[in-house]
Amino acid sequence: MPQLLKGSCQCGAVSFELQSHTPAPYQRCYCSICRKTGGGSGYAVNLSGLADSLNVQGQASIGVYNAKMPGGTFSNAKRHFCKCCGNELWLFDTRWPELIHPLASIIDSDLPKPPCLVHLMLEFKPAWVTAEIAPDDQVFQGYPEKSIEDWHKDQGLWVD
Ligand SMILES: [Zn+2]
Repeated sequence: MPQLLKGSCQCGAVSFELQSHTPAPYQRCYCSICRKTGGGSGYAVNLSGLADSLNVQGQASIGVYNAKMPGGTFSNAKRHFCKCCGNELWLFDTRWPELIHPLASIIDSDLPKPPCLVHLMLEFKPAWVTAEIAPDDQVFQGYPEKSIEDWHKDQGLWVD
């Protein structure tokens, strides 16, 4: 059975659950979009779950934001947020329609502690943010080499 992730926004207007084969919060994304919309500590930790298992309470309170990109275009990724408290909830990208990417910071159920981390989009890290990189961590200026699925399988953390 995949792991059930339960999450909610700060004000409680939105709560949700979904199943995940890949529940380890191992990715720290320092890109300016994640950092500004959902990662005030200098990075955001994005998870991955199964879109067709998503069950939402409070749908009417959810807004969707397509981030503005350099040059004035807009990202494919639909960032869902609570219109009441402003919490970013999850990201959905039509390029990967089978997946939902909730932020680890709004998950209320227990998540496995990852044995090592992947730091990505370091090219966009501001100088004030210290990337705390442990010896076993991997570092990428842009996107990482492995998908979330492959990383979990390599680490023996895939939840079948
Ligand atoms: Zn809220």
